[in-house]
Amino acid sequence: MLWHPCTQMKDHERYPPIHIRRGEGVWLEDEKGKRYFDAISSWWVNLFGHCNPRINAAVNDQLDTLEHVLLAGFTHETVLDLSKRLVEITPPGLDYCFYADNGSSAVEVALKMSYHYWHNQGKKEKTKFITLENSYHGDTLGALAVGSVSLYKDTYAPLLMETIAVPSPDCYHREPGESWEAYSTRKFADMEAALAQHHEQVCAVIVEPLVQCAGNMRMYHPCYLTLLREACDRYGVHLIADEVAVGFGRTGTLFACEQANITPDFMCLSKGLTGGYLPLSVVLTHTYVYDAFYDEYSTLKAFLHSHSYTGNPLACRAALATLDIFAQDNVIARNQDLSQHLRDATGPLADHPHVGDVRQHGMIVAIEMVQDKHTKTPYPWQARRGLQVYHRALAQGALLRPIGNVIYLMPPYVTTPEQIKWLGDVIAECIG
Ligand SMILES: *Cc1c(COP(=O)(O)O)cnc(C)c1O
Repeated sequence: MLWHPCTQMKDHERYPPIHIRRGEGVWLEDEKGKRYFDAISSWWVNLFGHCNPRINAAVNDQLDTLEHVLLAGFTHETVLDLSKRLVEITPPGLDYCFYADNGSSAVEVALKMSYHYWHNQGKKEKTKFITLENSYHGDTLGALAVGSVSLYKDTYAPLLMETIAVPSPDCYHREPGESWEAYSTRKFADMEAALAQHHEQVCAVIVEPLVQCAGNMRMYHPCYLTLLREACDRYGVHLIADEVAVGFGRTGTLFACEQANITPDFMCLSKGLTGGYLPLSVVLTHTYVYDAFYDEYSTLKAFLHSHSYTGNPLACRAALATLDIFAQDNVIARNQDLSQHLRDATGPLADHPHVGDVRQHGMIVAIEMVQDKHTKTPYPWQARRGLQVYHRALAQGALLRPIGNVIYLMPPYVTTPEQIKWLGDVIAECIG
């Protein structure tokens, strides 16, 4: 009857899915009344808790006013308000919002827009994209093609466009004593070489700024983004920042790009934008991109892309209510304090004989379990160590969902310091 996402359904013979009947704040409650702490924000979408009264009220109000209208030929106040707010809070220069309804679709929009921009400029030889190894940009075919997590991608390889993949600046394999900054800087040489060789055929470089989330929460230094911005300008190539996962405060700043003080040509947002309520995504871009499509209809330069629910009022209203909470509650400043608590709660795990790395960017902390600490030899994937941690943590009332051998916390921002301490203890017990 029901086929679950990203799941080998046979696993459910042994572990049936957990039936959730209600949510409140950081807690999910199953049908027997057992509660689970949502330490991964329901796949990184929730920021201010389940059934948040303020977001509920806004969505309810919208429901009584306008549930949906097509966004071609029509517009509405909620989408106009949201667009204005997004332009205000994103890095300077991002002046136009194009909506879709999930992260993968936003990536598809950015790829098509970048390609089409060059096409409209007469640069028809630009048809390729540069990506980082170990990146993830979604599961639709275009987004899958620019990602490189082989577990999701390899089976479909014959269906996918070819991309140019460059080694990742992720700092896990840096030399002993080498800083993140030195390592990420050194890794830029590969990107520089790829751009030098291919720039005439390349539309854009697409990256997940600072954290490759689905790629085992691997992290790098902001200096890489600064170097990348400068090189993209020098070679006449767009920069697409996929902030679907890291946007809205996850890395400590509202947007990860801020830490490198850069503005990408395209910025993809979803997940946190939705407050965890209703599917929504957006691509922000510059006036110069918008202008390259703006002409008489007969020139056929228009961007003829749409989704049925583009700019859905209910989803936009949930997003606006989410932005209101950021503005009213001084969230980014308060998260600095929570980040320190995350550091304190998980830092001691670095000494564990089967932990290879504890890394953090703001509100994301990841603990990598290894078979051999000194060689960083991973556990074989068949051992499914992460799955064992998952079940052990569930029994204690914590929803962790490790990626491979990497346990991570990406909690809602309404988590308390005491809860973070408890989560650290749960993780220590599970690894033990
Ligand atoms: C989750 C994710 C996507 C895909 O978003 P969906 O809404 O699942 O389609 C794209 N990029 C990144 C960086 C993501 O983490």
